[in-house]
Amino acid sequence: MENQSTKDIVLKYNFRFTKSLGQNFLTDDTVLEDIVMGADITEDDYVIEIGPGVGTLTKELLKTAKKVTSIELDEKLIPILQEELKDFPNFQLVHKDALKVDYKELIGEEQSVKIVANLPYYVTTPIIANLLNGKYNIKSITIMIQKEVGERIDAEPGTKDYGAFSLLAQYYCDTKIIRKVPPSCFIPSPKVDSVVIRLDILENPRVQVKDEKLFFNVIRQSFNMRRKTLSNAMKNIGLEKEKLKEAFERANIDSNRRGETLSISEFANLANVISELK
Ligand code: SAM
Repeated sequence: MENQSTKDIVLKYNFRFTKSLGQNFLTDDTVLEDIVMGADITEDDYVIEIGPGVGTLTKELLKTAKKVTSIELDEKLIPILQEELKDFPNFQLVHKDALKVDYKELIGEEQSVKIVANLPYYVTTPIIANLLNGKYNIKSITIMIQKEVGERIDAEPGTKDYGAFSLLAQYYCDTKIIRKVPPSCFIPSPKVDSVVIRLDILENPRVQVKDEKLFFNVIRQSFNMRRKTLSNAMKNIGLEKEKLKEAFERANIDSNRRGETLSISEFANLANVISELK
């Protein structure tokens, strides 16, 4: 069912879309409901929303959550949001670039937040990576993203979508695609299909690693040279040939395999042995 308020607000303020800011606004009620339900928002929740647009999703979140803090970069949207959401005392607006926000300060020490966003596609990967690597006090991230990125996050070893980004997400989270969203649910319609995906942050990362930096470096090297065998891909990892051979033996991993076939536990195992031999 179509949400009239997005179109009404756009017309009311004669709002002009800025393509470079990824401005595709939601106009479908069922998608709004599925995001709020999928994020499991309750009256106890502190929510951070990235990119509120004209506030359609924000309003739905504000009806349930204890507090919603929305981060918006476009200065043209600031007075619109202030006016349209003025009846909600639990609304806070931050006029900043979501890539430059100090999330530690915004979230604070005591509370844990849920992130909800219909993300501008051009910043999806850096925002997710920043939120995960920052180890902030976050319970979950429920976001609308480009379908291809959602499939990469959710990918299994050995598939074409499996890569460093899948492993980053799966190291920190349980991941679940909530629904698909076609271009017709937005104005203007994007050229690509979207999905709503929920990332539940695990209490402890999925696998135990001795040196996280090295673990992600091993992963990066493997996927930088996707078509090469692991023994070739690991040449610059900082071990001499003999030690590298020993590392594969001790990790029980055939060095002729390609990195893209390794499970997250195998990557952890390999990185842990390399760290011992360094
Ligand atoms: N949440 C609204 C909705 O669902 O209709 C709008 C979503 S639209 C895909 C993305 C929003 O993010 C736009 O309002 C855009 O101005 C904003 N935005 C783009 N880049 C941003 C950035 N770096 N930091 C914060 N907001 C940004």
